[in-house]
Amino acid sequence: MSHALQFYIDGQWVAPSGNKTLDVIDPSTEEAFATIALGEQADVDKAVAAARAAFPAFAATSRAERLALMRRLAEAYKARYADIADALSREMGAPKELAHRAQAGMGTAHLAKMIETLESFEFEELRGTTLIAKEPIGVVGMITPWNWPLNQIMCKVAPALAAGCTMVLKPSEIAPINAIIFAEVMHEAGVPKGVFNLVNGDGPTVGEAISRHPGVDMVSFTGSTRAGILVAKAAADTVKRVHQELGGKSANIILDDADLQKSVKLGVESVMRNSGQSCNAPTRMFVPERLHEEALAIAKQVAEPLKVGAPSADGVFLGPVVSEVQYEKIQRLIEAGIKEGATLVTGGPGRPEGLNRGYYVRPTVFGGVTDEMAIAREEIFGPVLSILPYGSEDEVIERANDTPYGLASYVQSGSLDRARKVAAKMRSGNVYINYPAWDAGAPFGGYKQSGNGREYAGFGLEEFLEIKGTVGFEAA
Ligand code: NAD
Repeated sequence: MSHALQFYIDGQWVAPSGNKTLDVIDPSTEEAFATIALGEQADVDKAVAAARAAFPAFAATSRAERLALMRRLAEAYKARYADIADALSREMGAPKELAHRAQAGMGTAHLAKMIETLESFEFEELRGTTLIAKEPIGVVGMITPWNWPLNQIMCKVAPALAAGCTMVLKPSEIAPINAIIFAEVMHEAGVPKGVFNLVNGDGPTVGEAISRHPGVDMVSFTGSTRAGILVAKAAADTVKRVHQELGGKSANIILDDADLQKSVKLGVESVMRNSGQSCNAPTRMFVPERLHEEALAIAKQVAEPLKVGAPSADGVFLGPVVSEVQYEKIQRLIEAGIKEGATLVTGGPGRPEGLNRGYYVRPTVFGGVTDEMAIAREEIFGPVLSILPYGSEDEVIERANDTPYGLASYVQSGSLDRARKVAAKMRSGNVYINYPAWDAGAPFGGYKQSGNGREYAGFGLEEFLEIKGTVGFEAA
């Protein structure tokens, strides 16, 4: 990886200001396989200056010019698709099949959707004598996590390009290689110099410098609620827009008329996919009391055959979790579940049999979970499902909403009408009825402490725009 020790600023790969570095660990071996440079304030200053200088010209480009650029980006992304998928599989542990299909595929899908969105987006509208114009907000700082890295990067870069914004990206320092390749892709696509800049680094240094920077007009952040709060605080003094996509503890309500076998099976698989490291994973499964035992039996039967193993091996459903820190946190929460009296249905502490190296976690299901247990309240971000029995429909709606988070909810029912009524009562930015297909056009984001603002398609584009009302634009 030739650019790992450099940053991409003002259209070229440059040396960092300081000399701090960080090893990138392969979570399947616990060994370093690359080293990146960690940036400082001075690197952020340079990147922001480049983005500011590039803004007036890029903001003035036509829709057609930006569409042409985004189409070139789609081509360049395609050319490096396999490299990106391989890199993220190695650095965050996603099984190769998931990495190649879904992880890297999200980048393609979001870019295609944003191109389609830009083709017909209304930037201007006349209401009476007032012109309402939507203009690019300016320089955007982007801070992203490691769990679906290309999804998050493209959810920010594509709308910023469509809007005419310039940007400084700080990807996760834990999985930075895919982002370095992505910067090469941007260069290959011919993005004008200064429009896109990449500075690697840790959160408290580079992330904080971006959030605080007076030359940054907006921060778009995806990550934990903890860091999202710090970003908002650092951004407050400069009154910049703060867009936050944060954590979740999503409820999955299985109503008594749902197909139990299918609902539990798909619920278990949704939690275990990506080793439980998805912000919207349905980690609190509510089942009717009388079906609780049956649900536990189905969950056990579904979870036990799921293959845990090296990301490079065939047929693997769960790779390792991303890091030692995450591994330890998940272990602590599994222990807490046992201690607090939940029924361990399958899995448990320690590594799966036969795997004594790598951050592998046993796919774990708890039954008889109650609302106050740590495993029902905290975002575990690992392959751990909590099953909670409930009495009435009113009760389950109230309990499902009883969380500081509000990213997603899931409703399973044999009656679409009934599911819709429950969906309407959920306090979350997304509700998924009967495990629908993924929709790149649906708004994505959270209520409450799961965030502010929305991503995907036109909803994502709106976040990167200022609204100008020119009153008296037409003579009365
Ligand atoms: P994290 O919050 O530790 O890190 C995310 C990013 O923030 C990283 O780039 C990190 O360097 C940076 N950061 C950390 N401290 C910072 C600070 N003080 N100032 C500025 N930046 C800082 O999260 P993670 O462990 O990388 O990712 C997992 C979390 O992300 C989970 O909580 C998950 O739910 C959340 N997530 C949310 C969504 C969503 O769309 N809502 C999507 C994916 C992940």
